[in-house]
Amino acid sequence: MRRIYLDNNATTPVLPEVLEAMRPYFGEHFGNASSIHHHGQETRAAVERARDLVASLLGCRPAEIVFTSGGTESDNLAIAGLTSAGDHVITSCIEHHAVLNACKHLEDKGCEVTYVPVDGRGLVDPGDVRRALRPKTRLISIMMANNETGVLQPAEEIGKIAGEADVHFHIDGVQAAGKVAIDVKRIGCQALSISGHKMHAPQGVGALYVRAGTQLQPLFYGGRHERSRRAGTENVPGIVALGKAAELAMHGFERGDDKKISALRDRLQQGILAQIEAAGVNGDGAPRVPNTSNIYFDHVEGESMVISLDLKGMAVSTGAACSSGAIEPSHVLIAMGLRRDRARASIRFSLGKQNTADDIDLALALVPETIMRLRELSPGYTKTAVSS
Ligand code: PLP
Repeated sequence: MRRIYLDNNATTPVLPEVLEAMRPYFGEHFGNASSIHHHGQETRAAVERARDLVASLLGCRPAEIVFTSGGTESDNLAIAGLTSAGDHVITSCIEHHAVLNACKHLEDKGCEVTYVPVDGRGLVDPGDVRRALRPKTRLISIMMANNETGVLQPAEEIGKIAGEADVHFHIDGVQAAGKVAIDVKRIGCQALSISGHKMHAPQGVGALYVRAGTQLQPLFYGGRHERSRRAGTENVPGIVALGKAAELAMHGFERGDDKKISALRDRLQQGILAQIEAAGVNGDGAPRVPNTSNIYFDHVEGESMVISLDLKGMAVSTGAACSSGAIEPSHVLIAMGLRRDRARASIRFSLGKQNTADDIDLALALVPETIMRLRELSPGYTKTAVSS
């Protein structure tokens, strides 16, 4: 069976060039990057080359990059590392659980957290962020791109508000890195998280940008790795891979890969909407990353669609991978004001660099026939019900 993978916001395949770049660091170049002998110097040089590349992707200095184990650790490091008990934090109700649950933990430790809402398109209003500021506000943490809808938040405007209020600003950039250009200086943030496996590097590696001069409490205590900001022997193959993926992402922007991906995504989205009634795009009308389209199909359960499409060889998702299988509808779609049944009738299509026009052709054949069949089985469905 031919398989089409359209769940790249859950994870992306490692690109062949990335695998090639990291391979020697499992074999001949195995040294500990902290060792002073030849083996250590070799891997230290590779880690520093990767740091340069990740810094170029984000528009910062190499010393401002801290390598971590992924997006979750980067988010936790920023949120715990930039706050102390008694502080007030502002975040949004559509954040990934890596941020939401880190904030819940802060509340348990005596911080107060304000969760700003979003509008029907999934956008945070910077005015709400400004109005939520208090004398004790220490940190604003807002994502750049939402993992479920792909909606891009007004990061620069929020950065300006944070700057004027002299409050730290952390951005979860996990779903934005490699998809849209990021310039941390222009945004004016103190910290920004990225994750390797969302940008064609392997799972288990990530980075946190931390602006020079920002006081950051570490999460782990141990050696003085990463300038004492993240103790633990570096994951050299993973870091090399993240550097290569960052380099490929920059070349991709120069070649216009993002425009190619958004053209494929738009063809998929328009083709689906042209063939299926009572369907629509969640986050329509808001700026979005080029690869994501979250679509509701009334009268069909998201989980049934995911399973039926999987049986035909097509991988999509009902939203955040970690909450797949949960009975609760997506907190992101509910925050956008969707009815619970519509939120549960939504699926996410997310493309990656490996997807081709043939994948989209096949998806355009599989999705309508699957939805029609599931609707016929749905007790509440009639043509009139759908068009009413
Ligand atoms: N933040 C966002 C927006 C994400 O989509 C994810 C993963 O889905 C994470 C953070 C967590 O990243 P990781 O899987 O690397 O821990």
